[in-house]
Amino acid sequence: MIEKLSVIVSVYNEEAVLAKFFAAVMPVMEGLGTDFELIFCDDGSRDGSPAILDHFAAIDPRVKIVHFSRNYGHEYAMTAGIDYAAGDALICMDADLQHPVTLIPAILAKLNEGYEIVTMVRRRNESAPAWKRFSSAAFYKIMNKMSDMQFEENASDFFALSAAPANIIRNNFRESTRYMRAFVQSIGFRKTSIEYDAEDRAAGESKYNFRKLFRLAMDAFVSFSGLPLRLPDFFSALLGAAGVVLLIILAAARRLGTAARQALPLYAFLCLVFAAVFLVLGIMGKYIAVLLREARRRPLYTVSRLVNFGGPAACRPVIRPASSSGADSRPVITVSSRANSSAGFGSSGAIDAGCGLNTGTEAAGGKR
Ligand code: UDP
Ligand code: MG
Repeated sequence: MIEKLSVIVSVYNEEAVLAKFFAAVMPVMEGLGTDFELIFCDDGSRDGSPAILDHFAAIDPRVKIVHFSRNYGHEYAMTAGIDYAAGDALICMDADLQHPVTLIPAILAKLNEGYEIVTMVRRRNESAPAWKRFSSAAFYKIMNKMSDMQFEENASDFFALSAAPANIIRNNFRESTRYMRAFVQSIGFRKTSIEYDAEDRAAGESKYNFRKLFRLAMDAFVSFSGLPLRLPDFFSALLGAAGVVLLIILAAARRLGTAARQALPLYAFLCLVFAAVFLVLGIMGKYIAVLLREARRRPLYTVSRLVNFGGPAACRPVIRPASSSGADSRPVITVSSRANSSAGFGSSGAIDAGCGLNTGTEAAGGKR
């Protein structure tokens, strides 16, 4: 059973909608019969949002605010919310009421049934402009072709995590190129989805313009596809084959004209030289892919449950201890049992990965 639920709301210049959101969400949260906290991540808003949020926090101690010093972007706001959440499950959602707050009880019910990840899938989004709907559909098609992973189309930044996956996202996904919904979908665990109709924005304007969406899509490709780094292999093979064919033609065809006899060796030479250049680029691509993999330090594997490992202490094999000074960010590999996961997200900071296995660095932003 989830004893405390953290609801994380990203906010950037949302003064027009915050009061409506708060009025809508609070009765739903009160009706859950579960302890809760409502964490607003103010992503460097420059309108009246910070003051409105501070007011909410002043009237209700269950409301917590993380104020960024400047605008970092939605992905980072969600990350901060997950870092600071203290519940034993969390829900990420937008502030503009496009993610219906009335679905929170249904999400909690799924978590209580034992699902560890609940992805919310948009059924319709008629309020979005046509270019957004088209580019979103195209993005998922391309992404699923380019990546080894298959991502749910129309998944959104509306999702819920129980303690174990939340700890893995918090501790093991510290890379700065972020695409949260793919991180969430990439770690396995017992998953379910709930379909919802994206409502119109309750007030204010969308903060995502074409430039921001394009950047997010590029981050997603770079984060989850190695295909672009393998393109030189393709060109190298193509040009190498062309060079060889030209040489064969030159050797086999006796009755070539003078012009052809003079030009073919040059073309063959150019093809082979460029094939060699692309070959070297392809080799460098392989090293870059390895560097990226090492730099990201994604979990080597994620454990959802351990059986017969004794008590929680026995199933926390610290493979390489992290320095307690915090200056050393060497990886820690720890496992904690499912039985222990009731301790919530932050029973021992980055070390406790709930039922997950933590192979990441000590997260800078673990639960305080
Ligand atoms: N948001 C944010 N930082 C940003 C942009 C947006 O925290 O730099 C928040 C925003 O306040 C909202 C959510 O992210 O709660 C989704 O943004 P928006 O509604 O503008 O995007 P759309 O629904 O149009 O895709
Ligand atoms: Mg929106």
